Amino acid sequence: MEIDFSKDKDGLVPAIVQDSVTKNVLMLGYMNEEAYRKTLDTKKVTFYSRSKQRLWTKGEESGNFLNLVELKLDCDNDTLLLSVNPQGPTCHKGTDTCWGEENKTNFGFISELENVISDRKNNPDNEKSYVASLFQSGVNKIAQKVGEEAVEVVIEAKDDNDDLFLDESADLLFHYLILLQQKGYSLKDVVKVLERRH
Ligand code: AMP
Ligand code: ZN
Ligand code: ZN
Ligand code: ZN
Repeated sequence: MEIDFSKDKDGLVPAIVQDSVTKNVLMLGYMNEEAYRKTLDTKKVTFYSRSKQRLWTKGEESGNFLNLVELKLDCDNDTLLLSVNPQGPTCHKGTDTCWGEENKTNFGFISELENVISDRKNNPDNEKSYVASLFQSGVNKIAQKVGEEAVEVVIEAKDDNDDLFLDESADLLFHYLILLQQKGYSLKDVVKVLERRH
């Protein structure tokens, strides 16, 4: 891999640091060739610190190291993308990312849906909301709905109508997300169990 260190007068390239699991951007640093080599040798992300004017292994004082998982160069070889497993919060201000964010797992639209369901759980008096009414009915009713939708998925799986099969699958997933929240959990907790088994 040929990195182009020549574009910057100090021979630095930007290095974007991304969590290998959540894909969140944790911080941005700069590397010269020496920092790059040290990162590869030690598997602990090492930058060239422009303020300290020396090599800086992230975590050298705090213990909050960034363990290298994978390293990629961009299209024109002048920017690094570092995929890491962070040991503790990345920002020296104590937050997970340098933009003050939590390093949460993001399931895209499913996460949006989980937020809506959580909102309904916290406002169960919303009379127009089907989800709120389910929370009002309690865990037995929600669990029963999951059971019914699961049976419907089984029935449609045996048929060859793909639209119905997908519809019932969506119903099942939706009600399952509601059941998880009724029990105080979210999809992330289930994925964690799967990861531990893997
Ligand atoms: P650390 O490398 O975590 O032991 O932190 C050592 C010093 O580096 C801190 O006191 C900060 O001055 C600086 N520092 C640590 N983390 C960051 C960061 N994510 N962005 C910028 N500066 C940082
Ligand atoms: Zn580039
Ligand atoms: Zn920071
Ligand atoms: Zn259904």
